[in-house]
Amino acid sequence: MSFTRALVTGGSGFLGSHLCESLLRDDVDVVCLDNFATGAAANVTHLAGQAGFTMLEHDVTRPFEVEGEFDLVAHLASAASPPDYFGLPIETLRAGALGTANALDLARAHGARFLLASTSEVYGDPLVHPQPETYWGNVNPIGPRSVYDEAKRYAEALTTAYRREFGVDTTIARIFNTYGPRMRPDDGRMIPSFVCQALTGQPLTVTGRGDQTRSVCYVDDTVRGLVALAASGHSGPVNLGNPDERPVLALAREIREVTGADVPIRHVDAAVDDPKRRCPDISLAKSVLDWRPEISFSEGISRTVAWFADGFAEQVSLH
Ligand code: NAD
Ligand code: UDP
Repeated sequence: MSFTRALVTGGSGFLGSHLCESLLRDDVDVVCLDNFATGAAANVTHLAGQAGFTMLEHDVTRPFEVEGEFDLVAHLASAASPPDYFGLPIETLRAGALGTANALDLARAHGARFLLASTSEVYGDPLVHPQPETYWGNVNPIGPRSVYDEAKRYAEALTTAYRREFGVDTTIARIFNTYGPRMRPDDGRMIPSFVCQALTGQPLTVTGRGDQTRSVCYVDDTVRGLVALAASGHSGPVNLGNPDERPVLALAREIREVTGADVPIRHVDAAVDDPKRRCPDISLAKSVLDWRPEISFSEGISRTVAWFADGFAEQVSLH
């Protein structure tokens, strides 16, 4: 399956901006819809002059129409960092509910393929390890993370209902922790926090004992998986993530080593309902997409540190 013109909601966020770039490289025209709630216009300014790229500032939870035809709608608009969605609880639920409905309606009207950016958070604090797509999850529906987890679970249900009821050609990607250039230095997620703390000579803030695990995937691998899933015709859900599982404390130590920073690790309060272990079972992605991550943590984190370091150097030279 190949595409001519795509709508990417949340296209000026971290993942969305890389997806816009990847589609444009494949000669797919892109309309990037974003209200800059947690993303930044700067993430796509380099695309602004490029043929085939259009920026549309709009809140996806409000109805919209876009001129011209689409054959792909990729719905990424949603806060994604825990501190972001703790601060935007209702907006996050609305992006998962109304935003997904509006994006699905557009796909239905255009007969377009629809890709939902779902998340490993649908598995909550998992009781099955590693997590296959067949696992139903363990989510606290009234905990602080529920505004994100339940919004995404609802979005998956709505996407599936549009497929069953209206025959929309939908697919669902369950994305696991992804990192790389263009994450906001202050978005509060583990990787940008540790990298920026190390680069600015501050202690690395590890929550709890740091023995909780995450499996982090470099952005280029995740985006390659999203594009492969969109093109595959598979209905999903399909896990996209790197099964290289590590304790958060070990990740902090490795980032400190890569930056060469001489800073301590400071243990801070454990986060409420923080998933204790997370690791994708990617057997399905391997078999139906022939996809697997190719970029090691040491390679991905070096590229990420270099990107943040450039940004800091630029800020210093401006002052
Ligand atoms: P991000 O915060 O950088 O990007 C989200 C984008 O959506 C931002 O540009 C934001 O301004 C936009 N947005 C939010 N609400 C909107 C609204 N109502 N209308 C229009 N735009 C809106 O986060 P990200 O890490 O790039 O995540 C992108 C998507 O991928 C999200 O749906 C997220 O749930 C999913 N995801 C990301 C990860 C990850 O590790 N990065 C993991 C799992 C799932
Ligand atoms: N975390 C941490 N220090 C930070 C930010 C996060 O130790 O400054 C922890 C967080 O509590 C969690 C893990 O790192 O255990 C991953 O957090 P992140 O927000 O990156 O992603 P998520 O919790 O959504 O997997």
